[in-house]
Amino acid sequence: MLYRGLLGDSDVTLSLQPHWLTLGFDERLVVSWDRAGRLYSLYRDEHTFRRGFNGRVLEKWQDADGERHWDTLETADAHALADDAARLAARVHEALPTPRWSWQGDTPGERLGELVAALASAAAFTGAASARDAARFAEIYSTVGILPPDQYLSIVVQATEGCSFNTCTFCALYGGRYRVKSVEEFEPHLDAVRTWLGPSAGLRDRGLFLGAANALAVPMARLVPAFDAIGRVFPDARGVSAFVDGFTGLRKTAGDYHELAARGLRRVYVGLESGHDALLAFVEKPATRAEAVATVRALREAGVRVGVIVMIGLGGHAYAGAHVEDTITALHDMALGEHDLLYFSDLVEEPGTSYPALASARRIRPLIATERRAQRHAITDGLRRRAGDRSLPRMATYDVREFVY
Ligand code: SF4
Repeated sequence: MLYRGLLGDSDVTLSLQPHWLTLGFDERLVVSWDRAGRLYSLYRDEHTFRRGFNGRVLEKWQDADGERHWDTLETADAHALADDAARLAARVHEALPTPRWSWQGDTPGERLGELVAALASAAAFTGAASARDAARFAEIYSTVGILPPDQYLSIVVQATEGCSFNTCTFCALYGGRYRVKSVEEFEPHLDAVRTWLGPSAGLRDRGLFLGAANALAVPMARLVPAFDAIGRVFPDARGVSAFVDGFTGLRKTAGDYHELAARGLRRVYVGLESGHDALLAFVEKPATRAEAVATVRALREAGVRVGVIVMIGLGGHAYAGAHVEDTITALHDMALGEHDLLYFSDLVEEPGTSYPALASARRIRPLIATERRAQRHAITDGLRRRAGDRSLPRMATYDVREFVY
C-alpha cells in the first residue's frame, strides 16, 4: 500500500509492503526498514547507506564525473544514522492518526493498525538497538565474508566457518581458522537464525546460502545430514546455494551433486578467477583450469546451475594475454548455459594481503580502468566467438566493494 500526506512542510510518502516499510520525505530522503523493523537502507543527499545485519553501514555515492565511491561508516556514525532514521519513523508514527495528516491517496482504513505497528518497530530501531542487534548477530554467525551479488537477499546459514584454504594471496575475506560444524551444532544454529531473523526473513526471498567460503568441501557423510537439517528447519526455502572451489569440488562426483540437488542444492558458485594455470599458481589459488572445468561439468551434469567468477586485472600486465586466452578456453570448456551465471570481478588490492607486495616484487604493473574494461571485453568476445550458436550464460559485474549482508 502506498500513501502520500503532508507532515509539517514535508511531502511524505509511506509504502507498506509485505516485507518492508519505506518512508520518503520530499523525495530527497528515503528510508527503508524490513518488517522486523531493522533499518535496511537510507538515501539522502545523493548518498545511499546500506546497513548489514552485523551493524556495518556501507555508504555509496557517485562523484561529478560519474565515478563510484564506497566507504564504511565509523561505528558512531552508523549509530547516528540509525538514530536519525528512528526519529523520522517516530515523527510519522506520532502524526499518523491525527487530523494533521492529510491523505492524498486512499486512507489506511483497516490497515492503519498494521502501519502504526510497522512505524513503531522502525522508531524503536535506534543506534543502541542496532548495536544490540549486531551483537546478537555475532553470537549466531561467524564472518559472512562475501556473497555473489544475486545472493545478497538470501538467508545465510553456516555449516562451516572460514575458508578451508586461506592461501589465495589476493584474499582478505577469512582470517580465522576453518571449522566444520557437527550436525548437532548446525541444527541449533539454523533454529537460532530462523528465530533471530523473524519477519526479516520475508525480505530474504532468494533461498538459503550455505556458508562459509567453501562449504561444499565438507565430505558427503557430513554434508547430507546438514542438508537434511536445513530441510527440517527451513522446509519452505527456495533452494540452497553455496561456493565451491575447483579443487575440492572435484572430490565430489556428479552423483554426489545429484544427491545434494535432490535435497535442495540449486546453484553453486565457482571462483575460477583465471583459466591460466601459471597465474593461479602465482596467486596460490589451489586449483587448476582442468579441475575447475571438471567441477563445473559435474555440477551441470547433476542439473545444478553454476555461477563462475572471473577476476579482471589479476596478474596485471604480466599475465594479461595468457589470462584472457586461457580463461576463454576454460569458460568454453565449461559449456555454461543460459541458466548459468558468469561474473566479472575486478581485482581489489586489499591492504593486509600479500598480493600487492608479490606483484610489485615481480614488477607487475596493475591494469588501469580502461585496460580492465578491455580485458573483460576480450574475454566475452572470445567466448562468444568460440560458442558459435550455443547459448551463453548471463553475464554481470561482481563488485566486492558493494557487498553487505
Ligand atoms: S579466494 Fe576463496 S578459496 Fe581463496 S582464500 Fe579466499 S575464500 Fe579461500
